[in-house]
Amino acid sequence: MSGTTRYNNFIGGGWKPPSSGAYYPDYNPADEKDLIAEFPLSTNADADEAIKSANDAFGPWSRLLPAERAKYIEKFVAHLAENVPRVGAAICREEGKTMKEALGEPTRGVVECSYFAGEAQRLDGITMPSDRKGVVSVAARVPIGVVAAISPWNFPFLTPLRKIIPALAMGNTVVFKPAFDTPLSGVLLMELFEKAELPPGVVNMVIGKGSAMGDAISGNPLVRGITFTGSTTVGRRINLRAAENFTKVQLEMGGKNPCIVADYANLDRAAAEITTAAFAVSGQRCTSISRVIVLEKHAAELEAKIIEKMKSYVMGNGADPKVTMGPIINRAAGESIMAYIRSARDEGATVKAGGAQLHGGDYDTGFYIEPTLITDATPSMKVSIDEIFGPVLVSIKVASFADAMKVANDTEYGLAASLFSDNLSYIYDFQQNIESGMAHVNHGTVTDSTMPFGGVKHSGIGSFSKGVTNKDFFTTYKVNYVKYS
Ligand code: NAP
Ligand code: MG
Repeated sequence: MSGTTRYNNFIGGGWKPPSSGAYYPDYNPADEKDLIAEFPLSTNADADEAIKSANDAFGPWSRLLPAERAKYIEKFVAHLAENVPRVGAAICREEGKTMKEALGEPTRGVVECSYFAGEAQRLDGITMPSDRKGVVSVAARVPIGVVAAISPWNFPFLTPLRKIIPALAMGNTVVFKPAFDTPLSGVLLMELFEKAELPPGVVNMVIGKGSAMGDAISGNPLVRGITFTGSTTVGRRINLRAAENFTKVQLEMGGKNPCIVADYANLDRAAAEITTAAFAVSGQRCTSISRVIVLEKHAAELEAKIIEKMKSYVMGNGADPKVTMGPIINRAAGESIMAYIRSARDEGATVKAGGAQLHGGDYDTGFYIEPTLITDATPSMKVSIDEIFGPVLVSIKVASFADAMKVANDTEYGLAASLFSDNLSYIYDFQQNIESGMAHVNHGTVTDSTMPFGGVKHSGIGSFSKGVTNKDFFTTYKVNYVKYS
């Protein structure tokens, strides 16, 4: 036991052990011998205490001038900017993504948080001429109260930031529950809030299993908003719990993001963009392209070009600068991805490239899966329907653009979609008729830091996050009438 660091929950401005007294070890997914630290196994009682602390802090925090809240956020951003390399290294170690990918989180965090510090002072309201003489009517934005932020492991630092910072800027207080697999990122975040001297209780964190204390968070009537990113299954459960207390939700969930290729001259470019969008973070991004829907006439050439690009990946521990693809987050997730690859073979598709778990040497201390391309898939195969959340790209051939749109939309999900085409009518048809929150033409699924982000159908509900739309989730209105004569 000696030498193992132990972290605690962050409640009321201090570090508190969990009421259970129990901790769990967190290991590096790229090297399972590398014990990062031990983290609390929190209970409902810890969640309740954190929520109470946020509720107690809400009054004073919500009454600060927006400019005063912005000052705290600016101070936080300054500390974050100084700590980019340290935070990036921690993300690489606990999530397994490459160092370059890991550094992207705090780097982008600085940009997005600066934007939201400014939003604190752009809390626009509504005013209209009154129906009555001598009356002034003003609808002002007000914070919603205690906000629960629940995040997944794949962007363990940036996703929580996108929730916590807007919540604070708008005058809310926060209870944050990081993913079980990535608690260290949560600890680093709280340390930065401590450095920014945020008033006690304004941000709180409880670490542990969502299955153990998630219901206590989503069902607590003091929680007035839940901003969640994760799977559709858990999102649905949260939505049902939240409904009982009429708690607001912002749910960002799974995807099965299609990419249509139809009459696009530069197939090299398309292949490069698709490959990056499919395999970044080992395919474990909600916006990963997972289905290529390609006109028959382009299929062989496009697939060959994608395979060429796939060959360039160097797999291993992301801390090694040569490595361009890290491991899968944990063994259970790896087994699930491998089962999908087997199901594709069983159903008659072709595993055209990759498809294997790597073994031997350092590959045995984590779960490494080769970048995989499945071809000859039909829309009804499991791999074409389910979110795999791993480095697996499925190629489906279609006869026409109309068929491509039909296949693209034939999914419960609707997060991101992309189209590669030089045909203007295809481009407009796609923009009009694709059922997704984000539609990308002639590039992968990269989004802008100040644009709304979200999904439709079973991929999302509630205001889109990032950008101005976040204000609609993190505030509500109070409509004030004054009769002055
Ligand atoms: P997950 O299993 O749904 O977990 C997400 C978070 O919810 C974790 O913190 C988890 O805690 C917690 N949780 C689990 N059960 C809960 C409950 N009953 N009540 C409240 N919270 C609970 O998702 P994941 O495996 O971490 O992440 C992968 C999924 O996230 C994929 O489906 C992916 O598409 C989605 N995702 C979506 C977006 C987007 O913006 N649309 C972005 C990234 C990822 P534990 O970790 O302790 O289980
Ligand atoms: Mg871990």
